[in-house]
Amino acid sequence: MTRQSGKKPATDLLIYRTYFKTWKRGEKYVSDGKIRVIGFDDKHIDALAFGTDTYEVHLEFRGGGISRKCTCPVSDFCKHMVAVAIIWDKNRDIKLPDKNQVERQTIPPPLITFSDLKKAYKNPLKANLDVIRIAADELLSSSRNHAKLPKVPRNITDEKEFSKILVKKSISEIRSWSRRSNFDYYFCAGEVTAAFCEMCRIIRERWGNVDTMVKNEIIELLDIFRDEIVYEIIDDSDGLHEFLDAHIEALKLE
Ligand SMILES: [Zn+2]
Repeated sequence: MTRQSGKKPATDLLIYRTYFKTWKRGEKYVSDGKIRVIGFDDKHIDALAFGTDTYEVHLEFRGGGISRKCTCPVSDFCKHMVAVAIIWDKNRDIKLPDKNQVERQTIPPPLITFSDLKKAYKNPLKANLDVIRIAADELLSSSRNHAKLPKVPRNITDEKEFSKILVKKSISEIRSWSRRSNFDYYFCAGEVTAAFCEMCRIIRERWGNVDTMVKNEIIELLDIFRDEIVYEIIDDSDGLHEFLDAHIEALKLE
């Protein structure tokens, strides 16, 4: 990884653990001249960063890594540390990561935000199902390796004539996913929920010509499976049942 032998680049040790946006802000701190170096050598640097407040930054090589301190409210890998690492490397004539490296090596921005999720819960029937599919992975600081489930049961999208049997088969299909070896009650919960809702949306599109008696039978199947999902298949601690309920309710009203 070292871009130049002999001297250790501080930027190398921060870049893989810093968000892209934070890195860019750190670069701006440098170009705006907001860092004052108090002292540095090949082992450590002390500097002041002038932002909303004045922050003290200390970086130091320790073992194979870098120990970091900044008095700002951000817990770690803040823009001030990035700025100080850049200046430290610059002062030691170490080549800085170029634009491409910054793009490739920093942590990409999350695909969704908490406000996307809030929006989804506000109107579960119209929600963008991709948001609930990836919410647990994207919004929590840690994840477990888990199965990636299909977006929708294969049976329901087949061009067969719509029937109760087709719905039954689709339900068994979703149920079978929970027996996959990497199935995770919590981290797969959004995907199971999204697949159920997707199935209901497809049923609704084909609902028009369905006989009332068959409609009621299908709704009963969905109601029973809804409970199975909530109580046996997923960890519903995030309240995903709201999405299941809204989609079943919509079928009852049509
Ligand atoms: Zn800071």
